[in-house]
Amino acid sequence: GGLSFLLLYSLEISINFVMFFYAVVFSNGVGFAMAHLMISKDRMSFLQARLLEIDQVKSRVMNQEFARLSREDPVTGLANRRFFNEILTQEWELAGHSREPLSLVFIDVDHFKAYNDSYGHLRGDEALVKVAYVFKRHLRRSADLAARYGGEEFIFLLPNTALEGAKQVAQNMLNAVDQLQIPHCASLSAPHVTASFGVATWSPSKQPNLTIDQLIHQADSAVYQAKALGRHRVHLFGVE
Ligand code: GH3
Ligand code: MG
Ligand code: MG
Repeated sequence: GGLSFLLLYSLEISINFVMFFYAVVFSNGVGFAMAHLMISKDRMSFLQARLLEIDQVKSRVMNQEFARLSREDPVTGLANRRFFNEILTQEWELAGHSREPLSLVFIDVDHFKAYNDSYGHLRGDEALVKVAYVFKRHLRRSADLAARYGGEEFIFLLPNTALEGAKQVAQNMLNAVDQLQIPHCASLSAPHVTASFGVATWSPSKQPNLTIDQLIHQADSAVYQAKALGRHRVHLFGVE
């Protein structure tokens, strides 16, 4: 308005001051309203972009959580059987290519039905969580995987590990379960909770045709042997 006034004044154009005043007020009003509209539109789109980002982060976190839940056993926090089978298939392929041995340790808690009968199912669950934590602690290499295979059965995957190494890991885990000293008055093996371990190894160069199911079966039958020989021990498949 000031600039227009100066311009008109310098050009010596006569104006109606009242009309000029109204024109300035009106055009300022229109300009202000337009600026206000533009700023609030910018603000809205900025806020909407932030809300969208928050939604995206939320759904990413939820997807990660769903993925974790679909891989994990809810009681022990170890991998579940489905995820274990997935990883075993991948490691089997890798071992086949690299011709490195791959070992499985199958673990079955001894006299666990009697434990539940004596102490109750809840204490049974607590004992399984403690035992599972021992297995978690024994994961040394990034490719090692511990999983809950069934009720009181666990399985350990040890890629790039020969029978002797797997036997040592199993023996260490057996000792660590003993060291928990979870009282088990109804066990026929020891006064505390113990477990039996079955170890089986695949050497791709020696057994090119062995299948995953056969190796799992070997580890399972090694546990069966450990049970038959008195439980609370490590048994190696194919070794008397
Ligand atoms: P063995 O030494 O021959 O392995 O004897 P066991 O009693 O451990 O074996 P069996 O297979 O006869 O029984 C397994 C028992 O483990 C049955 C069930 O009471 C218990 N069990 C299985 N899953 C769970 C679980 O999630 N929580 C609890 N508390 N107990 C479980
Ligand atoms: Mg069992
Ligand atoms: Mg058992």
